[in-house]
Amino acid sequence: MFIHLHNHSPFSFLDGSSSMEAMVSRAANFNMPALALTDHNNLCGAVKFHKLTSAVGIKPIIGTEITLAGNFHLVLLAKNPQGYKNICKILTAGYLSISSTSAGSFRTLTPQISVETLKKFKDNLFVLSACRKGEIPSLILKGKYSEAKRAALKYIELFGKDNFFIELQQDFTPGRGYLNKLLAQLAVELKLNIVATNNNHYAHKEDYKIHDLLGCIKNLIKLKDVHPERPINGENYLKAPLDMLSLFKDYPEAIKSLWEINEQCEAALILGKKLFPSFSAPAGLTTEGFLRELTYSGALQRYGKITAKIKQRLEHELDIICKLDYQDYFLLVWDIVQYARQEKIRYAGRGSAADSAVAFCLYITEVDSIGRNLLFERFMSLERAEKPDIDIDFDARYRDKVSSYVYQKYGSDKVATVCTYNTYHGRSAIRDLGRAMDFSPEEIDAFAKRLPHIGSDSIKKAIEVFPELRNSELSWSKYEELINAAEKIADFPRFIGTHLGGLVVCKEPLSNHVPLQYSAKGVVVTQYDKNYIEDLGLVKLDLLSLRTFSAIQDSVDLIKINENNAGIRFDEQKFDYEALSLGDQKTYQLLREGNTLGVFQLESPAQRALQSRLKADNIEDVVASLALIRPGPIKGNMVEPYIARRHGLEKIAYSHPKLKPILEKTYGVVLFQEQVIEIATAVAGFTPGEADKLRRVMTHARSQSEMISIGEHFTQKAVAQGVDETVATEIFSYMAGYASYGFCEAHAAAFATTAYKTAFLSKHHPAEFFASLLSHQPLGYYPPNTLCVEARNRGVNLLSPDVNLSQAHFTVEKQLNKKSIRVSLKQVKGISQKEIDSIITSRREGFFASIEDFTNRIELSRDTLENLILSGAFDSLTPNRRSLLWSSTEIKDFSYEEKLFLEYKILGINVKEHFMSHWREKLKPMGIKTSKDLKSIPDNRLVKVAGLTIRPHRPPTKSGKTIVFLSLEDEFGLVDITIFNNIYQKYGTLLFSGKCPPLIITGTIQRRGKGINIIAKGLEALDL
Ligand SMILES: [Zn+2]
Ligand SMILES: [Zn+2]
Repeated sequence: MFIHLHNHSPFSFLDGSSSMEAMVSRAANFNMPALALTDHNNLCGAVKFHKLTSAVGIKPIIGTEITLAGNFHLVLLAKNPQGYKNICKILTAGYLSISSTSAGSFRTLTPQISVETLKKFKDNLFVLSACRKGEIPSLILKGKYSEAKRAALKYIELFGKDNFFIELQQDFTPGRGYLNKLLAQLAVELKLNIVATNNNHYAHKEDYKIHDLLGCIKNLIKLKDVHPERPINGENYLKAPLDMLSLFKDYPEAIKSLWEINEQCEAALILGKKLFPSFSAPAGLTTEGFLRELTYSGALQRYGKITAKIKQRLEHELDIICKLDYQDYFLLVWDIVQYARQEKIRYAGRGSAADSAVAFCLYITEVDSIGRNLLFERFMSLERAEKPDIDIDFDARYRDKVSSYVYQKYGSDKVATVCTYNTYHGRSAIRDLGRAMDFSPEEIDAFAKRLPHIGSDSIKKAIEVFPELRNSELSWSKYEELINAAEKIADFPRFIGTHLGGLVVCKEPLSNHVPLQYSAKGVVVTQYDKNYIEDLGLVKLDLLSLRTFSAIQDSVDLIKINENNAGIRFDEQKFDYEALSLGDQKTYQLLREGNTLGVFQLESPAQRALQSRLKADNIEDVVASLALIRPGPIKGNMVEPYIARRHGLEKIAYSHPKLKPILEKTYGVVLFQEQVIEIATAVAGFTPGEADKLRRVMTHARSQSEMISIGEHFTQKAVAQGVDETVATEIFSYMAGYASYGFCEAHAAAFATTAYKTAFLSKHHPAEFFASLLSHQPLGYYPPNTLCVEARNRGVNLLSPDVNLSQAHFTVEKQLNKKSIRVSLKQVKGISQKEIDSIITSRREGFFASIEDFTNRIELSRDTLENLILSGAFDSLTPNRRSLLWSSTEIKDFSYEEKLFLEYKILGINVKEHFMSHWREKLKPMGIKTSKDLKSIPDNRLVKVAGLTIRPHRPPTKSGKTIVFLSLEDEFGLVDITIFNNIYQKYGTLLFSGKCPPLIITGTIQRRGKGINIIAKGLEALDL
């Protein structure tokens, strides 16, 4: 028997080439009683490893191979939870002492752990002298035996003789026999134990090639290069016990040590601890009492009066919250939003938290879950094993300010951002492996940019399916090895990244429970991602950035400035965004016309098409819209029946009278997850918590047999409630059909208000709204130029940037009662914030009189000055842009068309005129229609349209066949195009081989409601 104590998984980041599953299952096949994980300088894989090994009855030994000052390796194994904690401490200390001034990026830096750190956290560890890069072996290899001995004495002093082992490996590398002999001799001289390992980096011998390739990526070299770090053989695989025993037949003591170590190691990782901090309630109050008080005072503000119904609901929620010991979490979130309110930072809770009335009363969410009859159990219940988290969107500009508040309040050692593991998918695998395998940059690029976003193990299939790959000129035989290698590294982690919103707060220093390090961006993150962190027992808080809130705030500010300019006193200002009525019919008219460009969540082509057919006239239609245009409902074919029933064109039948009150609001369609829970409660007598569990199982049911057994359970319970068996079966089949597609109503409701209100802004204040959207790009579905087209459609023109008039952000100028949008300075390519600031500050002392005056007063780079000139920012001083560029008055200015191109290149938008409008005279004789012309052309006519191509994409479809959707942008708006599979197969190369050119598309007109769609028959590049 043998136990492998030195193993690297893919979490050694490019130094482990078999999945952890493969390693563990191989160890299980050999009936190994224990297995250790010793990734380089991290515990990222520890939770996964703990779970995988425990599931197959192998004892997990959690460890790491650290890098010491001087780049020496050392293996640490945790004897028990205290040892685990010490490893967390050692790694954290090592990483956090890397200063940002160290050479290299955070992504590639390895810690240099000091002896002092080891001394502080030395207990409850077994320590092995490591591979050739260990201090002792490397000194011996350099012929410095006595120094090696001194080093060993240092380790003995640090960890104690019984805990420090001289590690022997038998990997058939040159000099290994000699090294082992001296290592064993040193052990004898110092009365140290020896231990046998194989320093495994992969499960099977053949994975060695991948290991070598990953090493090339890591060391930025190519396969043909010679490099001291490259392995010279494939011996570092998880060898069978008998093989290991025979390798170490001369060192029986080294085998005996394995048993001693194993015996003294207990499972070191404890999952599911309670680590959340308790909230400090005011004196005399328990946290429970404080939460209760806040909830009721909030309820009074929200509802005016607390009815029996409200009280009953709040009591029900408070009871569950406190039983689950979740009151501190609610209070912590309350405290954060309280801070945001005080600082006037726009925010709103999203997700299933909006099912909670307590969250509504604490001003965490804006959805009245009592009024809407939303089920709390979709958010949390006693039956549900895991605790839910609360997600809050903040004005993107101030999200970091809010998170700083959390750090400040709880202590920066108790708060950290959750990490993500950036993993290999198709494109990244081809790029990294291709470089290592010595493909030219052009060859790699041609391949990678044609790849859709798929896993690196789906490339072969993609080549069959996608014409831009299949019909490309790439010779696939050449890429075969590359594709095979990519397949093997699917989902392997590449580096540690930062989760966008996830923060964890712990009652103790986080480094007692998880190692902390810098992410690639330099943010302090936990080495566990959000799933592992929850397994550990910590609760994640999601503080997210929402640019839409920034744009809303800017719109509100611009509207106020406008009111101000019109002489309305501040205290008399009319516009109140918070109090906007949700019943403005002009706003619904905008939705019904499908003019929703820029409207939050309602602007995609699919949403625009839905809006023009759904004919929304109240906020519930908006809530339903958000739930309808999701991959699920589209795949599940729920959209058509929903629209038909909404308009009374299809009869609504309920198979049981109990379904009517539940499904009435969605016309008999199961649209929301909450409805599935309600049905199970009403029809089959589940408690709401059990019903939510049922819903979750149904959603994630992997197999037919699993679904059948859930169905039997449901039917049995329904029959016991007096429901006819056939009816019960029917209801279940209905639920099963929709369960995985349903959407959380609370989340839809939370977003619907913002969607409606942005539509209101778009309808009534288009200049301010589009100016604000343009200031906060990238935002939403469309590029800025599309938003400019829409602004012009609403009668709002754009004005060139101007050194005397432009602000940092887009602004609104009013002349003769007509509003225009002034392009911002920030939109000018390459300009820095410092340059913008200096222009605006200097202008306060008087307008710039000439370009000379400007350059005298402002210090800025030549590139920025050129870009300002080319974008028209000096036109009001000197209209001849070329003369400014060359400092010569003799020279003729750029042609109008050149100006159009240069402006677009620098600003990303057409200020004066859209390209297509400029070309229109040339396009007319070609028979090309505008998006405006289409409105008066009857259905089924064959037409030709042209424009800039906006977002070609291939969403999942019910049939599984590819359908491409895209929009063509011309000077009047968008033309939505549908390309079915047969046409896509012919023209895919044009669409998806990198950036898609402007296109001419021939196709037939199809109308649905007010929406117009072209079914493409032929495509060509528009070349003018
Ligand atoms: Zn090593
Ligand atoms: Zn190693």
